[in-house]
Amino acid sequence: MTRSATALPRKADFELPAGVIYLDGNSLGPLPRGAAERAMRTIREEWGNELIRAWNSADWIALPQRVGDRIARLIGASEGSVTTGDTLSIKVYQALAAALRMRPERRVILSDSGNFPTDLYMAEGLIETLGRGHELRMPAPDQVLDAIDESVAAVMLTHVDYRTGRCHDMAAITRRAHEAGAVMIWDLAHSAGAMPLGIGAIGAEFAVGCSYKYLNGGPGAPAFIHVRPDLVETVDPALSGWMGHAAPFAMEPQYRPARAIERMRVGTPPVIQLAILDAALDIWEGVDLAALRTRSIELSEQFIAGVEARCPQLTLASPRDPQARGSQVSFAFEEGYAAMQALIAHGVIGDFRTPDIMRFGFTPLYLDAQDVARAVDILADVMARDLWRDPRFQTRARVT
Ligand SMILES: *Cc1c(COP(=O)(O)O)cnc(C)c1O
Repeated sequence: MTRSATALPRKADFELPAGVIYLDGNSLGPLPRGAAERAMRTIREEWGNELIRAWNSADWIALPQRVGDRIARLIGASEGSVTTGDTLSIKVYQALAAALRMRPERRVILSDSGNFPTDLYMAEGLIETLGRGHELRMPAPDQVLDAIDESVAAVMLTHVDYRTGRCHDMAAITRRAHEAGAVMIWDLAHSAGAMPLGIGAIGAEFAVGCSYKYLNGGPGAPAFIHVRPDLVETVDPALSGWMGHAAPFAMEPQYRPARAIERMRVGTPPVIQLAILDAALDIWEGVDLAALRTRSIELSEQFIAGVEARCPQLTLASPRDPQARGSQVSFAFEEGYAAMQALIAHGVIGDFRTPDIMRFGFTPLYLDAQDVARAVDILADVMARDLWRDPRFQTRARVT
């Protein structure tokens, strides 16, 4: 597939429902055209006809690596440094456990108080399991750099804050972590597919992320893990599953990790979900991530200007400097949950994050300036007419 690098948006590549402006692709990307057909082919032709032979005939066994290499290109990592599988929570655990084994004499895990809860919970659980007196420190995000000292075994941070969209300076923090002798782990959940990343040049030992947000791999799509190339052959995988074994089908009673990124695999890969993700990644062929970032900033700036001019009830909760933001914009409003429900009922889908954050993702692959203008009009109408006061928008659903 060849397309001009600047041919954004690629709305025609997605099956978006009519009448919906989708500003939640930062949480769950939409259905890429061709993905459902690819899933059906995997199910009918490969699973249905080939049965167990498909592990070889359709090369299911290598799918986690093939897809990993495609993600590597999007995060600026080299071939053979990324594999896919499991969920991001698992990959966070694995990276952190591996990192702690690299610094056995140190006891501090440094994260920040704005990190996504599961990353912190997984660290907490790992500390319990290890039972060696590790401590999880969570300074405010802007205090992280100063909190890195020589007691820190691993710095584990999410690049883009899920709530506010604030970006950490990955290069500066990684440099500081390395100066202090700590291992660096970046969670790219809200940045992979949102901007150029250059994780290879930054030199962090580990990076992890999920593929159902900006990468559009679908609900439950597998996570990815990147290991710095010089460590790929020696890092301790921490979760010693048979798919990460040097010779899974030798069925040896003892674990021997593969001498490649495969060692970070754990169990049987989710083949159908990986096939969907593989199809979703077709859309990224030829996309210029720098152009995507420029467009994302234009759309975000347009949205902020429109909302600030027309919705005085809402307060910007994201950094005003676009370079300090990811590809989302958040506004604080006390009745943000109800306001978001009212907005969704009027065809603009964003989401709400407790306590009062209305969150909007800007995904230039399928959004353009007209969509943003229309979204601002609808939001301004919802706010001007207090439509959120309707009791049907007040009850919280299980998933917000
Ligand atoms: C979305 C997200 C997750 C989700 O983890 P799953 O295991 O895929 O549910 C974890 N961490 C961060 C930073 C996220 O943004």
